[in-house]
Amino acid sequence: MKRNHKAAVEEMQRLLKQNTKRYAFKKLEKEVIKTGACVECGACVAACPVDAISGERTDRKYVPILTGECISCGICYAMCPRSFVLQDQLIGEVKNSWKLQSTRDHMRQDGGAVTAILGYMLDEKMIEGAVVACRSSDTPWLPVATTITRREDLYRCGGTIYTHAQVIDEMLRGFKKNLSSLAVVGTACNIDAIHRMEEHSEGLFNVDRAASVFKISLFCMESFNYGDLVAFLKKAGIEIENVSHFAITSGELKVTLGSDVRSWPVAELNTAAASSCAFCQDFTGKYSDLSCGNIGSDEGWTTVLARTDRAADIIKGALKKGIVKGEALDAESLQAVMNSARFKMNKYYRLQTGH
Ligand SMILES: Cc1cc2nc3c(=O)[nH]c(=O)nc-3n(C[C@H](O)[C@H](O)[C@H](O)COP(=O)(O)OP(=O)(O)OC[C@H]3O[C@@H](n4cnc5c(N)ncnc54)[C@H](O)[C@@H]3O)c2cc1C
Repeated sequence: MKRNHKAAVEEMQRLLKQNTKRYAFKKLEKEVIKTGACVECGACVAACPVDAISGERTDRKYVPILTGECISCGICYAMCPRSFVLQDQLIGEVKNSWKLQSTRDHMRQDGGAVTAILGYMLDEKMIEGAVVACRSSDTPWLPVATTITRREDLYRCGGTIYTHAQVIDEMLRGFKKNLSSLAVVGTACNIDAIHRMEEHSEGLFNVDRAASVFKISLFCMESFNYGDLVAFLKKAGIEIENVSHFAITSGELKVTLGSDVRSWPVAELNTAAASSCAFCQDFTGKYSDLSCGNIGSDEGWTTVLARTDRAADIIKGALKKGIVKGEALDAESLQAVMNSARFKMNKYYRLQTGH
């Protein structure tokens, strides 16, 4: 077949226009070149259809620089092996996605979908218990991992606690007590631990085939060390026991104290972030059955991504029974989730490099 390079470049541009945002060289420079993530392969230089990028060799390394006029076609960013553009790379496999809201009245963070789905699974006897994080009765806002076996008891454990909870330890306690089917709610790092137990030849779920777990991950940019969060708030004149609600939305931590709401850019809490968060690139929890968060949905709704057939069937069942209401997530909302995932991945680059 006769090759036509010009036609191939035009087709790439057409597809990019259709499928993704078209990022200018500036974005590649900011996220990949300036952070030191560039692998010096020359893909961006070679792919630029208007020859606007040159590879310059400094005494240390090869650096792509803009020497012509960028037409913002997006090809350099899309072809770079270190940029994050593919859906699978950003949020993993997703079979179905929705914005959902619980139809029952209970404590919740966003749409209450997580609590509603767990309640549905308990009522339908799909699981014997749900491992969640409840607020400690002694130490305000300290998470206590707890196994709930009745729907009504889930209602006191709705809402988000922005501190690591030991849900995996609690899950194992449940299995030791001979429970055999549990749902576990956790951040991507918690779900990673379960994934390891599923994938490793000596892992629990390989050794004990009768134990089953349904994994619900919560989207997570970062969580905070309990003591550091308390100290941060104290410095701002707030005692944590007076906080009635925490929320992170649009890059801000919002703290509700009765009728008063105080907020800070999350970046200001960097020193309070758990050290492990610097090692995490997974915003949505790729190894879960269901991933849930607020990004991508309006206030009061939960974005829900189903990654397995079982998870999709459970949501369809809960919708049919009226336990939750909602609609399919549109492409723009899914893109918002991917943008947050990309932000987290780029954050990892910045932390890992001193360039
Ligand atoms: C540390 C952390 C950071 C997050 N950051 C983001 C973010 O950046 N962007 C975003 O879109 N969403 C984020 N989320 C998810 C979001 O806050 C909500 O949990 C999600 O939208 C589900 O809302 P819901 O109303 O459906 O859940 P609910 O019905 O309120 O149920 C929430 C469930 O999560 C459990 N839970 C609460 N805290 C923890 C915890 N620390 N560990 C394990 N289980 C817990 C509760 O026990 C409850 O079962 C974060 C969650 C956590 C825990």
